[in-house]
Amino acid sequence: MQRYGFILHNSISSKIPSNSPAAIRLKKRKTASNKLSEEFNQTVIDAMPAPILVYDCNGRFITVNKAFCETFEICRNKNILENYNIKKFKNFMFENEEIAGENLSVNEEQMEFLHHYIDENGNSKWFEVIKKNIKIKTPGYATFCLFNDITSRKLAEDKLMDALKKEIEINRMKNQFISTISHEFKTPLSIIFSSGELIDYYFDRLTKTQLKDYVKKIKSAVKRMNEMIENLILISKAESNKLTLIKSEIEIKTFCESLIEETKSSTKKNGKITLLLHCEPSAIIKADEKILRHILLNLLSNAAKYCTENYEIDFEVSIDHNKIFFVVKDKGIGINEQDIPNLFKAFYRAGNTGKIPGNGLGLSIAKKFVDIHNGEISVESEYGSSTKFNVSIPLLN
Ligand code: ADP
Repeated sequence: MQRYGFILHNSISSKIPSNSPAAIRLKKRKTASNKLSEEFNQTVIDAMPAPILVYDCNGRFITVNKAFCETFEICRNKNILENYNIKKFKNFMFENEEIAGENLSVNEEQMEFLHHYIDENGNSKWFEVIKKNIKIKTPGYATFCLFNDITSRKLAEDKLMDALKKEIEINRMKNQFISTISHEFKTPLSIIFSSGELIDYYFDRLTKTQLKDYVKKIKSAVKRMNEMIENLILISKAESNKLTLIKSEIEIKTFCESLIEETKSSTKKNGKITLLLHCEPSAIIKADEKILRHILLNLLSNAAKYCTENYEIDFEVSIDHNKIFFVVKDKGIGINEQDIPNLFKAFYRAGNTGKIPGNGLGLSIAKKFVDIHNGEISVESEYGSSTKFNVSIPLLN
């Protein structure tokens, strides 16, 4: 008797003795008809371009079509097929046991689910699987699965989702940019406005010292706004690749000493900056001096700014394999680990800033300048004790 099949036959009439010629003829006809229907079914499912699998309620494979064998790389030999079990297959074909089907009742509605398949070569495919239980005589019911390959649709959807996420992120950044800029401009503008008002109303009554004090406040607020505008122009130039490198010969020792002097004179704090040259003091490199100066001054002035009392900074320089390496190491307040990944984003200020002034633009500009030199910038820090910025820049020929 046929073990598996889709078309159910009427049982042989129990009235005819099983060894009578009529019963034997009927049995032969039924076997032939079963074989024919099995071949017909196989031909039909083989003609289907989508992979098809049918397994019984014990999970044993009944049949698969050519497309299934090609897609899931299995052999269609009948003996081999009978040894396949959905339980062995579910790890790669179905993502969880319920979906694998052995717990489904015969009357369960048709179900559809997504299946992600990765072949032996690591190629990824997505299928929309339509799964339906069908009644068969033995052993009760079979599960029919049709696999629609939706890989290209899924990839297009993923691309669309990525584009959407980017769009959302750009919008978020734009909003953050506008609110930070307006906030940053509001403070100096209100200082200018209130100082101007006071001068206007009380001009006759103000002493010279008071007057000078208000003018000083106005000048420093204007300076702050001016610096911010210049920084924004630099960022926008770097973003739109409008910054061109102007190379010149730079004598390392003189250059680094001038950076140290400039840092010391621009900060109100006292401290020590030690230059550690691991190259010939007379070494000359070819680079864009203005841009290099901007990067290093930012790191040095931050090192002086982000410390509680007097600063203590090591400024190391070395040349190796056509690259110049700068290390700025301080013994300041340090940066919390969770802030590190965001440090080079525009307007980002870590949680360590307290009342220390700043706008979070310096490091993002430094990073852009390092990038346009095809260089690298990184940071290591121990919260509460030290911070080290490393910069490496390929030397221009
Ligand atoms: P700003 O100093 O104007 O806030 P930056 O872009 O130069 O902006 O720096 C971003 C943030 O990185 C700072 O707000 C500060 O939190 C942190 N930071 C930078 N350098 C140091 C340093 N040497 N020590 C501790 N924190 C630092």
